Amino acid sequence: MIGCSCEVCTSTDPRNYRRRSSLYVVTEQQHIVMDTPPDFRDQALRFGVKRVDAVLLTHPHADHIYGFDDVRRFSTMQETHIPVYGAPRTIKQMRKKFDYVDRVSYGFESVPRVLFTDLTNAVQIENCKVTPLPVSHGMDMIYGFLIEGDGKRLAYIPDCNGIPDETFQCLENLDVMILDGLRPQPHPTHFSIAEAIEHLEKIGAKQSFITHLTHNSEHHDLQARIGDAITVPWDGLEISL
Ligand SMILES: [Zn+2]
Ligand SMILES: [Zn+2]
Ligand SMILES: [Zn+2]
Repeated sequence: MIGCSCEVCTSTDPRNYRRRSSLYVVTEQQHIVMDTPPDFRDQALRFGVKRVDAVLLTHPHADHIYGFDDVRRFSTMQETHIPVYGAPRTIKQMRKKFDYVDRVSYGFESVPRVLFTDLTNAVQIENCKVTPLPVSHGMDMIYGFLIEGDGKRLAYIPDCNGIPDETFQCLENLDVMILDGLRPQPHPTHFSIAEAIEHLEKIGAKQSFITHLTHNSEHHDLQARIGDAITVPWDGLEISL
């Protein structure tokens, strides 16, 4: 956290250095980014993201979208328009916040070349089926995403303080569940760590992760306290399925 000198912010353990939440899913045919946070460029450079075939946006909060302009490097390299999926409300906000994307017409390199697409139902992207997962985030209903492909199922819900029954039913038989667990203290728009654990236990995925963590949690300390069943992830963590 800017201006903070707590033990986590001054830790030399790289696992205590947390960029904003995002996920990169790679299959044989697809490279999908979930959210483009303000440090998207740094994440891509640091962790070797060299291709993006599709972008999924959970919601238009600043910490999830303000690295979006750097999608232009991928549309330039790949010489194509990149599909960007989100709830109609999210796409509307994106068109407003990044209004130059549709307006500027010179050269592939100048702006991200994207195809904004409203997502209300499941969509097939090559070999991946992507299903939007509506969840509560304070007063808003926003999306998490279920990705299915090659017989594997992964769900990503980074911002959430309530899971409706209909969405909960989509979370059966998961290989991976990644869920918001902001901090030990309660928060009006995010699950606390205790709430995240409670939901992850109920969901019962083969592998469970807490994400969107703040500097209120020291990596090793939190992992030791919650036990082995749930992983406290870190920037750059890779999972193979
Ligand atoms: Zn701190
Ligand atoms: Zn949010
Ligand atoms: Zn967030």
